[in-house]
Amino acid sequence: MESQIHKIHQQLVRKEVTCVKLVQERLILLKSNTHATANSLLEEIALELAKKVDAKIDCGEKIGLLEGIPFGIKDVYMLQGTYTTASSNFLKRYRSPYTATAIQKLLDAGAIPLVKENCDSFGHGSSSENTIFGAVKNAINPDLVGGGSSGGSAVNVAKDLTVFSIGGDTGGSIRQPAGYNKVYGFKPTYGRISRFGLMAYASSTDCVGPIAKSIEDIRIVLNEISGKDIKDQTTYHSEKISKEAIDNVDEIKTVGYFKNFTETDAIDPQIKLDFYASIEKVKAKGMQVKALNFFEPDSLVSTYYTLAMAETASNLSRLDGTNYGNRIEGETLKDTYSITRSENFSEETKRRIVGGNQVLSQGFSDEIYLKGLNLRDQIAKNFENDFKEVDIIISPVTPNTPPQIGDSLKEPLAMYLSDAYTVGFSLGQLPTLTVPQGTQTGLQITAAKNNDELVFKFANFLKDIL
Ligand code: GLN
Repeated sequence: MESQIHKIHQQLVRKEVTCVKLVQERLILLKSNTHATANSLLEEIALELAKKVDAKIDCGEKIGLLEGIPFGIKDVYMLQGTYTTASSNFLKRYRSPYTATAIQKLLDAGAIPLVKENCDSFGHGSSSENTIFGAVKNAINPDLVGGGSSGGSAVNVAKDLTVFSIGGDTGGSIRQPAGYNKVYGFKPTYGRISRFGLMAYASSTDCVGPIAKSIEDIRIVLNEISGKDIKDQTTYHSEKISKEAIDNVDEIKTVGYFKNFTETDAIDPQIKLDFYASIEKVKAKGMQVKALNFFEPDSLVSTYYTLAMAETASNLSRLDGTNYGNRIEGETLKDTYSITRSENFSEETKRRIVGGNQVLSQGFSDEIYLKGLNLRDQIAKNFENDFKEVDIIISPVTPNTPPQIGDSLKEPLAMYLSDAYTVGFSLGQLPTLTVPQGTQTGLQITAAKNNDELVFKFANFLKDIL
């Protein structure tokens, strides 16, 4: 797929379309779409910004590449003055008091925010059914889930309702819906993009990232939103990834894959076959392919959910109806807290808060939480050693194809296990890209920490051989 950003930029510059028209058309499509992707439309802001872009073009002024490009925002990012609901009852009427750094950078570049996108509440889920706005439907088959938690964002991109969307990925929430809807989705190295203004789920793995239809569009957006931010102390300076740099794949000699992921009955037989067929194509191009040992998928899932639940229980403790959210008065202050939290959080979110407080509580924390931290260190060590042997790791995105709408809500454990291939890379804080090729739900490409550029190089190479 060619770059939509370059294409629309040309159309604007050549005056083949006005920015207002472009924005209006997409707003109409978003409004009438039946996939439940939009929590709120940013009509007023979008049209006002579009007029400014048109005025500039009319005056013969030069516009930047992202100027006038319509994009979507997962409904967990602050954009001053707009609703940021996290798809929850709790924050149904919460308006952002400030703007997230990544979103501000896009506004500064002239991109136009169109919509706050449906997702699993507070990022809790893998299907975008844990939401008060109705289940997001898959772009390819609406009987299936859109994936999650950034389901609305991936479906909007797949259906051309937004040119790109900004998702959030804690344990796979950009990569998995990208795979389910056959688009690209990138989780950069932890800290490359500021999390300031992203509602925290599990702070130690939360990442901001783009979803788009081409590698080029992912690259353009990534370059724009990366960088050190004094408001997020985990951020660092990174060099831009150039178009030329990713054309050359010479430095990639060895590609690895985890045989524990594929040598199990838990994987769909077709995904397995297609994955191995992709490996053969890589080999045929003269690259060395190595099977690697890794942690069992079940251990990765337990480690991730132990830590993610602990972190989300802490992060969400601030939602008590006093500082934030929909307060429901009880007889005493304690009752007020209790009713407010019981009534406003979803079943899935409460499961995580209870689980998280359990693993952090006295008598359990040594055995569960600290063990989880220890396993995480071992996972990181394992990755370090792997990347001494291979340049790139490829893996399927999911063990199975997208479930029917309704199934994941009935079986939370099955839903957690569907994250088996994505959560390890999150715990390792590694850069990982989903590409919509190779298997029915795509492939993940991963490199060592801070080696995001290598991921793009390999993706570029892969798209021509698969
Ligand atoms: N599905 C995973 C979870 O529910 C990942 C979610 C995410 O990355 N926000 O935790």
